[in-house]
Amino acid sequence: MENKELYPELADYIWNYCCHMTEDEQTAWRHNRAVERLAHGNRIGFHKHQNQEQQLSKDEAVLKLLENGYDNFKTLVVTRVWNEQKPELKLNLCPNCKRIARTPSAKQCRFCLHSWREKPNKESSSTSE
Ligand SMILES: [Zn+2]
Repeated sequence: MENKELYPELADYIWNYCCHMTEDEQTAWRHNRAVERLAHGNRIGFHKHQNQEQQLSKDEAVLKLLENGYDNFKTLVVTRVWNEQKPELKLNLCPNCKRIARTPSAKQCRFCLHSWREKPNKESSSTSE
């Protein structure tokens, strides 16, 4: 792998919070979701069943994205986003170890446990000078 910097936690973060999928990727994602829902066919009604079938794709480029499974698809998408949009990605990195936080609003590092919560210091501001 060339992407030494793209460790699993970072990949998850990109997938969850900054993944701008191409049309093919979105179609593949919906296709996969439809396949999963149809697999639980008895639990969804007839109309929903039809809706799901409409989400299925026959596009070869789309199906190729999923040919090695859903996890592989995620990796493909995340790697593409990482390579193409790395400078623009809004990553919530730990100020201490520079690794990725769990969510965009997290204020504590899961790796080094450093916390960057702003301290409530309203009272001390008026007395200093
Ligand atoms: Zn850290």
